[in-house]
Amino acid sequence: MKLNNVDFDTYFKNYPNKEGYFGKYGGVYVSDELKEAMAEITQSYNTICKSAKFISELRRIRKEFQGRPTPISHLERLSESIGNGVQLYVKREDLNHTGAHKLNHCMGEALLAKYMGKKKVIAETGAGQHGVAMATAAAYFGLECDIYMGAVDIKKQAPNVARMKILGANVVEVTEGLATLKEAVDAAFAAYCREYKDAIYCIGSVVGPHPFPMMVRDFQSVVGIEAREQFLEMTGELPDAVVACVGGGSNSMGMFSGFLNDPVDIYGVEPLGRGEKLGDHAASMKYGTEGVMHGFNSIMLKDENGDPAPVYSVASGLDYPSSGPEHAFLHDIGRVKYETATDDETIDAFFKLSRMEGIIPAIESSHAVAYAMKLAKQMDNGSILICLSGRGDKDMDYIIENYGIQ
Ligand SMILES: *Cc1c(COP(=O)(O)O)cnc(C)c1O
Repeated sequence: MKLNNVDFDTYFKNYPNKEGYFGKYGGVYVSDELKEAMAEITQSYNTICKSAKFISELRRIRKEFQGRPTPISHLERLSESIGNGVQLYVKREDLNHTGAHKLNHCMGEALLAKYMGKKKVIAETGAGQHGVAMATAAAYFGLECDIYMGAVDIKKQAPNVARMKILGANVVEVTEGLATLKEAVDAAFAAYCREYKDAIYCIGSVVGPHPFPMMVRDFQSVVGIEAREQFLEMTGELPDAVVACVGGGSNSMGMFSGFLNDPVDIYGVEPLGRGEKLGDHAASMKYGTEGVMHGFNSIMLKDENGDPAPVYSVASGLDYPSSGPEHAFLHDIGRVKYETATDDETIDAFFKLSRMEGIIPAIESSHAVAYAMKLAKQMDNGSILICLSGRGDKDMDYIIENYGIQ
């Protein structure tokens, strides 16, 4: 399949290119010192990811530790409630060990660290989900683990801080600036600059300088590869549409990569929060413009000075002012359509999936369900496959406090 001069038959060979670009997006916008460290990771990854030993070890871990393949569930009652024959299905990343897709790339990154002879993994975390997944992977491989986290987030996310500590990670409190995710990222990068001989930095999504957008996509592609095969086996056909929520963009890139070369409509769902005003949402592909942040060129939401804008979403995993460079590329060539769901639509979908299907989704994932329900109403019949990126256990307190029992 070809679109705007991009040949999807050979897509993964050509994107990103050697310099880490998807079209004009991506690259390595970091200090010379970090450039060297990134080049080391790129070179090691390009060799190690092709070795039969690495591939078979990762495959075994996916099966025996993570519990993969995760199933696809047919949402019979929710589909029936829409009433026009369109059938909804979910790929159950909520059933992946630790309850979300994040472990897919954390296990890959930690296994790479082991093959590179590193003793330590370094990461940042905002809400704590990436930190917990990283701490889990580090415990599994017996690696040291430093998780940089803002002081404000440490207070807010006590259960995840406890999880990381129980798993043996060292949670490093960051008190600079607003003491949230941005400062945690800066502190983790600075630590990595000091320690890169012994440590590897592990990013939480398909963002950051090359090779991370490529590497995280590759590790997450297990979601799309499994889903395509399972869906064909279940229904005898491909889905008409595939839908996933987009924060940094890792669960969506994993899912989409299985279907890019198929006659399937692909939708990324961004959080529209409280509305279209800058500061009330985090829909960067839909409302953003080209710019560089956190070491890569992509589409981003900027304030009046051209700096990353403050963003908001009911889902803490989606409130990032950009998304990975590959999303920006797929957006520009028109292969993926970027749509939105508001907080209200999302919470409605959260309760519908819980009550009609017995699946409590993460608020992040509920964005994808909300948009899929809107899309289904516009279709005559056919099928939609949704990536259910995670389970909602982490969101219980927030839901009860803010929405009560509806
Ligand atoms: C972190 C997270 C997300 C957002 O991250 P992506 O990189 O966009 O996938 C989505 N869903 C869940 C459950 C998460 O934990």
